[in-house]
Amino acid sequence: CGIVGYVGTRSAQELLLAGLQKLEYRGYDSAGVSVLRDGAIDSVRAVGNLSHLEDAIAARQGTEGAPNAGGTATATQEVATGIGHTRWATHGRVNEENAHPHFDTTDRVHVVVNGIVENYMALKQGLLADGCVFTSETDAEVIAHLIRRHLADGDLVTAVRAAYAELQGHYAFVAMNADEPGLLVGARKECPLVIGRGDGEQFIASAIPAFLKETRDVQLIENDEIVVVRPDGVELQTPDGTPIDRSVDRVDWDE
Ligand code: GLU
Repeated sequence: CGIVGYVGTRSAQELLLAGLQKLEYRGYDSAGVSVLRDGAIDSVRAVGNLSHLEDAIAARQGTEGAPNAGGTATATQEVATGIGHTRWATHGRVNEENAHPHFDTTDRVHVVVNGIVENYMALKQGLLADGCVFTSETDAEVIAHLIRRHLADGDLVTAVRAAYAELQGHYAFVAMNADEPGLLVGARKECPLVIGRGDGEQFIASAIPAFLKETRDVQLIENDEIVVVRPDGVELQTPDGTPIDRSVDRVDWDE
């Protein structure tokens, strides 16, 4: 139902949670965040409102003794990379396993997805036959497995384009890969997605309020576009990889 993503040098976790709070008005039944940390993706999800997610994060940090967890830039990790989601269940019950982010069998690719993947059953059958292990009942999880499969012959950008070509429905998603820090790749098919441009950091979200406190410079993503988000810039492409020019607009309204 609500997507947020961040690449930059500040704490991804804090910015993602703040963004999710701003998207609360959209309604949701569960929430989660994934942040790249020391070469692996750390994910926390919880049913219920954001205070449950915050409690789960605090409990995790308590047990792991990581007070600065959340992608704050450190000597070992120069760039913070993270995605967050509030879910309004359409396929699969409301439980922690079905909350986003979803991930592939190797736990290297994480995705947050709004909307509906209409052909997920056929895709899932093929992926199961290939040995993929599914951990949720959602339509959304196929996207993580598809991207991972296409990473065998490319990078996250080409893998997202290849996965996009296989998906039917109306959705928006943002993906990250543990092997490509500082990169988010999004796709928009009929569900909203917008970029917030910063200085050395970028935001992506379902709606502008998610990052309005941090930046007023936005780039709209149109239907059928792929977006490549890095701390130092943003590229829009058609699904076949042709670059698209897009103006940066200044938002002058307040929430
Ligand atoms: N169809 C997905 C699910 O049920 C995403 C729903 C949403 O937009 O939150 O998990």
